[in-house]
Amino acid sequence: MNEKKNTSEILFMDAHTANKAAEKESASEILFIESDADQRLSPKIRPNEAIFIGAHADDIEIGAWSAAYKLIASKWKVFFIVMTTDSGACERLSEAVDAAKLLSKDIEVFFLKETDGLLSCNRQTVSKLRSLISSQKINARVVFCHSKADSHNDHRAVNEIAISAFRESVIIEYPVINSLIKSDFKPNIFSSVTEEIMKSQNLALSRHKSQTSRISTDKIYKYREESSQLGKKIYVDKFKATLQAGYSENQLALLMDAIDDIPTHKLLGRIIRDGLVAISGGTIFRKNRTIDHSITSCGKSVSSLLRAHMQIIVGMKEVIEVPASDPNVHEFAEESSILIIDGAISNSFAREYYDHFVGLNYKIDYEIPNYQNQCVVDLSLKIPKKIYPKYGVDDFGRKKIIEDIGILTFMKNPMNTDKWLIGCMGVHAIGTMGCFRALMEDSLASLISSRLDEALAAGKSGIQVLVGYTPDGAPRFLSRSWRKI
Ligand SMILES: [Zn+2]
Repeated sequence: MNEKKNTSEILFMDAHTANKAAEKESASEILFIESDADQRLSPKIRPNEAIFIGAHADDIEIGAWSAAYKLIASKWKVFFIVMTTDSGACERLSEAVDAAKLLSKDIEVFFLKETDGLLSCNRQTVSKLRSLISSQKINARVVFCHSKADSHNDHRAVNEIAISAFRESVIIEYPVINSLIKSDFKPNIFSSVTEEIMKSQNLALSRHKSQTSRISTDKIYKYREESSQLGKKIYVDKFKATLQAGYSENQLALLMDAIDDIPTHKLLGRIIRDGLVAISGGTIFRKNRTIDHSITSCGKSVSSLLRAHMQIIVGMKEVIEVPASDPNVHEFAEESSILIIDGAISNSFAREYYDHFVGLNYKIDYEIPNYQNQCVVDLSLKIPKKIYPKYGVDDFGRKKIIEDIGILTFMKNPMNTDKWLIGCMGVHAIGTMGCFRALMEDSLASLISSRLDEALAAGKSGIQVLVGYTPDGAPRFLSRSWRKI
């Protein structure tokens, strides 16, 4: 370890030596304390590694604690790096180590000892960080750092330094609520925060005794609060992933598995991690409409809503929208995970491809001419059964939809089984919207996830379920409509 002492100006701390280190600190700018670092050199299987970088001693605790907590619970090796120290250095360094050790006694905390308030991204700071990483043989390709949407100059500098110092990495930006520029922060990873995590974070923040007056846990909680569509309050931490060229898909997938656990996001995230092509239907010509409901405008709004939501959910990868009439739709479907919007009535891809996939239980049916008697057919029964939406009459005596039905399909893409197929197909556009809303509803999305896992574990390729949806109500799964494919 001796030669390492001379390689950098890095202060490395171990729990039991933290206070001693703080005492010694004034004696030398170069201080390195032995740890279990050499165990990391073992050629055996290494755990996944993640680095958390904060400008100041308490930033990681404020902005990224839940992520560190979950990674450690998933057996990741986690490193904390604090870039600056201020005049209260000794105190703040040992506070930071005390706090970090609440997560795991194995956690290693490094201090780069730049001047508080004057941090900038330049050759010196970037190479200092790089030499720490190489001298410690840290192998992480997942790096947490401040968001650039931050009004604190030190925080923005950390963002730039991290992006400059690492290559081929997954960079995860975390917000620090006191200085976050909310309108510029566009998260794409969402992580639930449990009571247990909040308690642990409170305890960690309380270790920063010299900072208590500046940390507002109320502010942190307020920022986290979200209302689910069923009206119950949930707490969510938000992060923004930036993917550098050559990043590891595998590391990203493992990271998402460990921290990205909001049901709706997890369900779609795991399927759409590699991008999504949404195949949308077109309009159909009907001689006379029997229902006071415009499929065209509803179809368009479903499609734009889907697009907006998918962008948030997929975030890191592009959602491409292709009309079913596109001459290259077949190639798209062979190369990508696909989302089919609308059933066979208006979507020619559904009609020409989906309706002919082997093993499907539900399809949309109708009678020609004029597309009348639209319904879902249950093909899983010996005698296929037709299921119709519920209709009523509006104030002007016109037929109106009371409850539409949609077929929600989650399966391996039959045209490329490495990819996925999601189908949101209503008898009418309202049913399509219902399928989509079911994906956005945490409790329903959890159910889809567990049913899908069951089906895949049983060697099946997916699931289908019928969604009932009233235009101004909440989506529901029709009873006994779950089918494996
Ligand atoms: Zn800070």
